[in-house]
Amino acid sequence: TETGLQPETLDLDPAPVAPDRDLMSKFDGLIAERRALIDSGVTDPFAIVMEEVRSPTEAVIKGRETILLGTYNYMGMTFDADVVAAGKQALDRFGSGTNGSRMLNGTFQDHVEVEQALRDFYGMTGAIVFSTGYMANLGMISTLVGKGEYVILDADSHASIYDGCKQGVAEIVRFRHNSVDDLDKRLGRLPKEAGKLVVLEGVYSMLGDIAPLREMVAVSRKHGAMVLVDEAHSMGFFGPNGRGVYEDQGLDVDFVIGTFSKSVGTVGGFCVSDHPKFEAIRLACRPYIFTASLPPSVVATAATSIRKLATATEKRERLWANARQLHGGLTAMGFKLGTETPQSAIVAVILDDQQQAVAMWQALLDGGLYVNVARPPATPQGTYLLRCSLCAEHTTDQLTRVLAMFRSAGQAVGAIG
Ligand code: PMP
Repeated sequence: TETGLQPETLDLDPAPVAPDRDLMSKFDGLIAERRALIDSGVTDPFAIVMEEVRSPTEAVIKGRETILLGTYNYMGMTFDADVVAAGKQALDRFGSGTNGSRMLNGTFQDHVEVEQALRDFYGMTGAIVFSTGYMANLGMISTLVGKGEYVILDADSHASIYDGCKQGVAEIVRFRHNSVDDLDKRLGRLPKEAGKLVVLEGVYSMLGDIAPLREMVAVSRKHGAMVLVDEAHSMGFFGPNGRGVYEDQGLDVDFVIGTFSKSVGTVGGFCVSDHPKFEAIRLACRPYIFTASLPPSVVATAATSIRKLATATEKRERLWANARQLHGGLTAMGFKLGTETPQSAIVAVILDDQQQAVAMWQALLDGGLYVNVARPPATPQGTYLLRCSLCAEHTTDQLTRVLAMFRSAGQAVGAIG
């Protein structure tokens, strides 16, 4: 046989593995927690199915027309006619997939074009596309920072940043969320001569707060560190060219990470940089080399979307107006929000505990509104919230209905008076 085992040596009816050696036993706690949640009569918030998607802001969930306020479709590009046409054309011309890695057989014309679209969008000399944003962080962080070097990250960093640190061999140093002083202090304790990468996010996606990047980049420079900023939740609508919070604050950084899964409206990840040696990443980065490249239809939609985002001024203005309407309306009702002012397209409604968060989430869903439930470990410890993410395509009328639903659901669960 292929394994070299002779059939007669196999026990065809093996005894079950003892419970203490059953590798699946470690999930018993999670299984019980989920069971208890479902037994309490609520819909499982982590198993929602979109039966139909009608537009960037509307879907059918459990047979019911639902307003989507919990997707990352900030710029509403998923149904853009040019974007969809580009995908169909690529499907016809290049087929459904690449069957291989970028290094070997997986670079098609549209991969080259989407990287050029990114260079043009960011005004940078280098762009490398990964299969997801998760892999862009995993690959860039683990490849950039080596043995004896340091990666310094915000405690509230996205899981993909943490995983990039774990995959690598560098020393890991965390600083308090958005604390410039703590970053300064921790950088000051590290050996002067060692290579250092400070990893920041423009928008932190759980609370929707932005980073004081100007101060953080200045402190990083003072200590001789390079800076990587993940702009996943800001692309398309922060800064004069939609490049992100770093552009909005007038900064230069060494590496920008982004994703196609949010404002761009498809799937994929990337890193852009002006570093003259940036291309060398392609030769060394395992999450770039050892996986298949994105399908041609995906990169073609991404390239078209990115080129349109560069000039989507009107959409940007509508998105910001929507953020102000939702944030202002919820504040006036007495909800506790993740930020005092609308800082991004994410508005987080903070609740007392998991039970209240899930009850309110269910009431909203039953009323025809989908938002995200977020809980630890995705959120800071002890924080349960309903996360709303806005789209440029939400209408004033939709948001008026959203606010009415929040009022009645909030009163029903006792979150507001
Ligand atoms: N970085 C941040 C800050 C994110 O929020 C996310 C996804 N939510 C990612 C990276 C990963 O992006 P992707 O969905 O493309 O894997």
